[in-house]
Amino acid sequence: MHDDLLPIAAMERAVDIVLSSPHPTSKVSAALFGRDLNGDDYIIARTNRWPERIEQCFTQDERIGNSSGTIHAETACILAAPYTKDASICVTDPFCPNCAKNIVEAGIKAVYIDHKGFIKDFAARRGHDFENMSLKIVERAGIAIFEVIRKDKIIQPIQIPKEGYRPKSDNPPTIKPLEQSPSMALFLNEVNAAKNIYDADTPFCVALSEDRHGALYSITLSAHLSRGIKGSEPEAPAHQLEQKYNYTIPPLNRLMIGAHKYGHRVLDDYIYLSHIPSGRELINLMGEEGQQTLYFDKSKNMTKYSSPKALMQLTQAGLVKAEYI
Ligand SMILES: [Zn+2]
Repeated sequence: MHDDLLPIAAMERAVDIVLSSPHPTSKVSAALFGRDLNGDDYIIARTNRWPERIEQCFTQDERIGNSSGTIHAETACILAAPYTKDASICVTDPFCPNCAKNIVEAGIKAVYIDHKGFIKDFAARRGHDFENMSLKIVERAGIAIFEVIRKDKIIQPIQIPKEGYRPKSDNPPTIKPLEQSPSMALFLNEVNAAKNIYDADTPFCVALSEDRHGALYSITLSAHLSRGIKGSEPEAPAHQLEQKYNYTIPPLNRLMIGAHKYGHRVLDDYIYLSHIPSGRELINLMGEEGQQTLYFDKSKNMTKYSSPKALMQLTQAGLVKAEYI
């Protein structure tokens, strides 16, 4: 038994809104709680949903590249949070491997799952992905997972990291203060510097961001394996998962999650990507406010996860601008 009842209160918040999910068959919600950089406690609850921008331009059953147009509840919470480092998250259902990676990347320290999430149609729907991949992703990162039985106010561990287990972050983003105002010249300077760091096959991104005081930074980072996952791991543990999931966190997702982890705001007009992003990354980007301009290398590099189709659909709908430099 866990003494702290805050996760139960947060789980109630998540459960309270779950039926408001616009998804006709899979209604999921999450509540993220933590402390922002001013020292104030926050709690944010979200359901899975179509981002407003997607809703305005596409129908619910339209695919964006090879991805559904919905943003998952867990990821929606992270993208709405002021500062996610050391926060905790409550989820109504066992989470998918993509959200597991985002939870790790956000620096979240504990995940609470409603026990009813394991009953429903769990085994048919998500059990396989969860047991084979999601659990491993959070376990390797040293995140604790609990099950919450709300009516009895019980919180019981599903998976607790071993005492002192802390995987090192072998590829942290470089966040550099810039003593200037944002400009294209400054941005391109940062992009050129990054091109000298990474080899041509490594997907990376560069962006300008502001902290909560309005100070300017550049953020440079590359794709990497989720924290604690070894390069020798097979891409997905079960054959059927390989089409859908992998252990790599692509750069645009890392950038968005990383900004929330550190309490920064990415500037919409200063995002460079060395490779075309995946459909999933672009959908998550649609969960952010504003209309972003994405700058790409003019050679239009691709990874096996790139979705030029998703990028084309979103640029044609006027939701994002793509420039090749
Ligand atoms: Zn998910």
